[in-house]
Parts: sequence; C-alpha cells; structure tokens
Amino acid sequence: MADSIRSAALKVTEPRLAVLAALTSTPHVSAEQLFTLVKAQLPSTSLQAVYGVLAAFGNAGLVRKVEPAGSPALFERRVGDNHHHLVCTRCSVVHDVDCAVGSAPCLVPENDSGFAVHAAEVTYWGLCPACQVDLAAL
Ligand SMILES: [Zn+2]
Ligand SMILES: [Zn+2]
Repeated sequence: MADSIRSAALKVTEPRLAVLAALTSTPHVSAEQLFTLVKAQLPSTSLQAVYGVLAAFGNAGLVRKVEPAGSPALFERRVGDNHHHLVCTRCSVVHDVDCAVGSAPCLVPENDSGFAVHAAEVTYWGLCPACQVDLAAL
C-alpha cells in the first residue's frame, strides 16, 4: 500500500494509507462513504482531508473517478484499463465490466468529427441480481 503511494511520488501519510486501504476493500465509493470507512480507522480524519487525499491520488493517477448520472462521484483503485460500469437503477450498486473490445478507447465512434479519441466511458444501466430477486418477490 505504502509502495504504491511512494511510486506515485507522494509522501506516505496515515490518511493516504487509510483511504487507499478503504478503496482496496470497497471500490466505487463516494467521498462521504470513504470518510465513514476511514474514520473508523482514523478518528481524527476530516471529510476535507479525504477530499484532499482523493485530489492528490487523482492527480497522481492512483485512483479513478466515475460519475454515473444522478450519483455522487465514485472512486476506485482500478485505473488505466478503461473498464466500464454496470449500475443498478434501483439500488445504485456498481460493478466493473471489462472493455467492450481490446484496449482504450475500445469503442470507436462512427463519426469522430476529427477528434483524436483517447477514451470511451460506457455506463450500462439495469437491475442487479439482488434487485431482480427482490422485485420478483413483491
Ligand atoms: Zn440493485
Ligand atoms: Zn470500476
């Protein structure tokens, strides 16, 4: 954990370690959810400190921010592979999906209007297995 912080040329601090550990065990969490997780380990942490750590990690390429419509920004450690997300429209659970084809941008627009496309971000919306079971039981 400390190694990946050091390799990003960042100073290893307790809040940084705690945020990275929380993101490792619980991907796709908002800053507020992370704050709750980190606070359990490090009671002196503030929400502001968590935002600061996330900004530093984001700049260093250690975390990726995903922003499904209607949801707060979510953070995860899986970076650099341009994977996509499945989001449940009922309970908002988020799962990773590998690239549709090959590597980034993995989806090529039919007409790129002259853009040099470097990434494609796809959100698949649907009902997660647990919600399908819940709804079937109603
Ligand atoms: Zn669901
Ligand atoms: Zn993801």
